[in-house]
Amino acid sequence: MSGIKCFVIDLDGVVYRGNELIPGADEGLARLRKKGRIFFTTNNATLHREDYAEKLMRLGIPASPYEVLTSGYVAAVHIKTYYDDPRVFLIGEEGLKRELEEQDVEVGQRGCNLVLAALDRGFNYNKLALGLKYINNGSPFLATNLDNVLVSESGLLPGAGAIVSALQTASKKEPILIGKPSDIMADFILTKAGVKPEEILIIGDRLDTDIAMGKNFGMKTALVLTGYNKERDLRDSKIKPDYVLDKL
Ligand SMILES: [Mg+2]
Repeated sequence: MSGIKCFVIDLDGVVYRGNELIPGADEGLARLRKKGRIFFTTNNATLHREDYAEKLMRLGIPASPYEVLTSGYVAAVHIKTYYDDPRVFLIGEEGLKRELEEQDVEVGQRGCNLVLAALDRGFNYNKLALGLKYINNGSPFLATNLDNVLVSESGLLPGAGAIVSALQTASKKEPILIGKPSDIMADFILTKAGVKPEEILIIGDRLDTDIAMGKNFGMKTALVLTGYNKERDLRDSKIKPDYVLDKL
């Protein structure tokens, strides 16, 4: 792995499952820190970057909010940059709302002109109906991520993709994807890292997000087998990482 200057590390399924540290992840991270710069990236937009940094610290891993890139933060910056006077109808949680508000993006229920869908554990039919109304009125439809599930300490839970699919089915519209493997997320990472793509090693547990994005943008990739994808998935997949590791 010579020539790597920056490590971009996924969280769910790599560093922790739910609230449990994956054994050895703390030591692995300490070693990587000596070799280059570190960013943590997650498609999970439920928490604010500060909350992720605190969660990592609680698990014994040094981390600053400035090292954390979430699909929620990138969504907020993207909306602020590319849409005029956005007023967001949000299907999502408090941490994401805070990211939007910190970028001076309005979030509301009425008079919205953009729909942002993310993981929302309070998702219900009413939210689906309002989201559909705004999309049918011509509002752009954005999704933080399309992960079908997330890896928790007690097994798999439905991910944001399951919620986005409901809106997609109702509206027959494709969302603009913000998180991995999108070019929006890749551009954001490359700008933050400030190094060449081939000087970045992206480490993740999902072939269709972490590894797919890394491959599409010329980064080096490592799949860890502590999360979603297992060795048998690797055999059946066209997406082949540069490295496969038992754990971080
Ligand atoms: Mg993951």
